[in-house]
Amino acid sequence: MATETKPVETTRKRPVNRLQTVYALRALTDKQYEDTRKAAEAGKPVAWCMVEPWHGSLLNAMDIESVYPESYASVCSAAGAAKAYLDRSESEGFPSTLCGYLQNVLGYADRMITDLGGDIPPEAPRGGMPKPALIIGNSGGTCDARYKGFQALGRYLDCPVWITESPSPSPREALLPGAYERDVQFIMEHLRQFIAFLEKLVGRKFDYDKFEEDLDHQMEMNAVWYNITDELRTARPSPMNSRDHYSAMQSVLMRTTDPVGVKKLFENMRDEVQHRIDNGIAGINYPEKYRMSFQGLGPWSHMQIFDILAPRGWNFVREGYHPQPPIDLSWVKDPIEKLVRYRRRGLEWNIDHDFGPKDAARIKKEIMEKGFSDEPAAVDARDYQLDGVLMQTSLTCRLTSCRTGLTIDRMMKSSKVPVLLYYGDMIDARLVDVDALMKRCEAFEETMDYYKEERKKAGMAW
Ligand code: SF4
Repeated sequence: MATETKPVETTRKRPVNRLQTVYALRALTDKQYEDTRKAAEAGKPVAWCMVEPWHGSLLNAMDIESVYPESYASVCSAAGAAKAYLDRSESEGFPSTLCGYLQNVLGYADRMITDLGGDIPPEAPRGGMPKPALIIGNSGGTCDARYKGFQALGRYLDCPVWITESPSPSPREALLPGAYERDVQFIMEHLRQFIAFLEKLVGRKFDYDKFEEDLDHQMEMNAVWYNITDELRTARPSPMNSRDHYSAMQSVLMRTTDPVGVKKLFENMRDEVQHRIDNGIAGINYPEKYRMSFQGLGPWSHMQIFDILAPRGWNFVREGYHPQPPIDLSWVKDPIEKLVRYRRRGLEWNIDHDFGPKDAARIKKEIMEKGFSDEPAAVDARDYQLDGVLMQTSLTCRLTSCRTGLTIDRMMKSSKVPVLLYYGDMIDARLVDVDALMKRCEAFEETMDYYKEERKKAGMAW
């Protein structure tokens, strides 16, 4: 791994050194909205879905197009269109503390149904989302917005709502003997019920061969994406900034109907990233001084922070929303079981993957005794040699805001990496004071410098 950051040409370039190969991936997101609108015009069913791990290949096998209100809220936020939908949601009686993603789509649905009789609002960014024939929520992540919000949406849009079930055991429960296998069986049974529901909805039989072929392609596509964003970005300087990760991830995190084509685009991206590594080129057009992780929900309402911080040498090398590592599931014959074992690995598998056998055994023992361990929180700090974490508490997301103190504590205890916490929101730009945040970032550099010395004194690797 290279240890020096070569200065790169800075004139007439934007502060973040954007990958050229990311633009083709980003264009796919626009195309998804277009494909969905065309499908609706042709009378095909369209689903509005919560981001969750199960439905993508199932919908592909049934030829059902889909859009993601969560992702669309970030589009509205970036385009400055979210405020009107948020206000409309509030005037309908939904609290302003409700998940910003949900507020945006509830306001959008109310505008669509009440003002336009089901037509797409003409002001909607990227051509908007057509009225759905189906809504898919999710019970996982211990978040009520994922299912209660989607149930409310179903009442506006007068269409069926399916809530996919994802058990969310505590760490200790997840390590109990047989717990993982019980989860696998439970989810498989639930997905079979979902398939029966889809068959009834569209009046066609589910095509298991098509499903398995699609799933295999999705796994191959994800393996390339994992190689780029989870392996190559550990290089010094890190060749790819979070800004590009957020642009590229949409095509895998939501759903792709063309995993073979998207894999090719990721292969192009991998070549570009590898070229940067070979030539010591960073993901910012400035020498990399601070290797940063962005934690919390994506800062869709204030993405400019990456460009503002790049001239100070802040290179964001890690963030949330990552794919699963590749896994050999050739022994699994049932394609539904293959999907479940691919998407859900279980806590034990993850600990074994991230640590050597001795450490893994110690961490599992600690979890069984205390209910938690600090160490898994520090894996990113170790693998990416982080100098600091910028963490957003999104004021409209209780799930991600309730545990920030614990994460900060754990990062410090196990890796001596400081966290700068700020209050903001992923959608509502009115809740983020970017100028004040940038001043705090400037002051935070002293803290990061201090802990760099502390790690050195403690004999840590970076
Ligand atoms: S986890 Fe947070 S952002 Fe996601 S749906 Fe729930 S409240 Fe919204």
